Amino acid sequence: MVELSEDILYDTIIVGGGPAGLTAGLYCARAKLNTVLFEKGPLGGQIAITDLVENYPGFPEGISGKELTQRFKEQAERFGLHIVRKEVSKIEREGKEIFVHLRTGELVRSKTVILTVGSNPRRLGVPGEEEFLNRGVSYCATCDGALFEGVPIAVVGGGDSATQESLFLTRFASKVYLIHRRDQIRAQKHLQEKVFSNPKIEFIPNKVVEEIKGSDFVEKLILRDTKKGSLSELPVEGVFIFIGLEPNTSFLKGSIKLDDKGYIITDERMKTSMEGLFAAGDCRSGATGQVAVAVGEGCIAAIEAERYIEEVF
Ligand code: NAP
Repeated sequence: MVELSEDILYDTIIVGGGPAGLTAGLYCARAKLNTVLFEKGPLGGQIAITDLVENYPGFPEGISGKELTQRFKEQAERFGLHIVRKEVSKIEREGKEIFVHLRTGELVRSKTVILTVGSNPRRLGVPGEEEFLNRGVSYCATCDGALFEGVPIAVVGGGDSATQESLFLTRFASKVYLIHRRDQIRAQKHLQEKVFSNPKIEFIPNKVVEEIKGSDFVEKLILRDTKKGSLSELPVEGVFIFIGLEPNTSFLKGSIKLDDKGYIITDERMKTSMEGLFAAGDCRSGATGQVAVAVGEGCIAAIEAERYIEEVF
């Protein structure tokens, strides 16, 4: 257990325990910087809810998101990274130091901070979405897929997540309807090929979900045709929503520069608009949503933090 104290001036505080944060943690700890990583939820970020990561180099057969997270964690902890399960609520600069406020009311001081807060699934914002959350509505196939054994379900979206998770869900569901607002999907070609050749997946183009309906659990979707405007019903017992991500940066509004979508603006060395504050991974403006990129950016941020400490302190 790490003792948090206002009397300690940490070298680096990392906010967020996904691939970028755990890599930054590994590099900082291995450089003998006194480093604490705060994570409010489970470690791993988006990969923790990804069944199979197939494009992270070094794992020719792919690796489960859970297993990869565990390996990142073990490696960073071996070099002395302290991981603390607490939420950061505010960041401000005071003189040469950065003050990190925790939701618990505690204050931690650091020479540098690396933000690796990632992003969260975007909501559809339609009637029934909140009401049926965990009663048929899900944003995580790995977590909830097994609950839909032998029944028809829908997946909404046309990106890598929607296609990859549709394929995963065919292990359980009797049928997977892939609903997309256009007739072209933007997912990587090899995922498209797999989806279109899977007999359990039916692609429903040019439709958006207008409403999610049911009694105790989801029973059907009301779909609107994006070309004709007509409405139709689709009976399903579950709906998985993968329509992109939104950065977890609301607590940073007003303290640093964000782009118009709320992603953190940095230069190519991961420096934000606040001195001593760096950002890496999916929360950064221009993020690619790739583990390999997040890991690389976490590494750059850690190296820059170390340089900054040498120059300024
Ligand atoms: P994404 O690439 O942003 O795709 C979101 C999809 O949802 C798009 O097809 C979009 O339609 C659709 N959409 C957005 N808002 C909608 C709305 N309100 N109603 C209906 N449909 C809506 O998101 P993602 O698939 O979650 O991926 C996020 C990032 O992670 C990407 O960079 C992706 O490459 C990466 N990722 C990579 C892998 C991998 O490498 N294997 C796996 C998962 C994710 P339009 O196409 O019409 O805009």
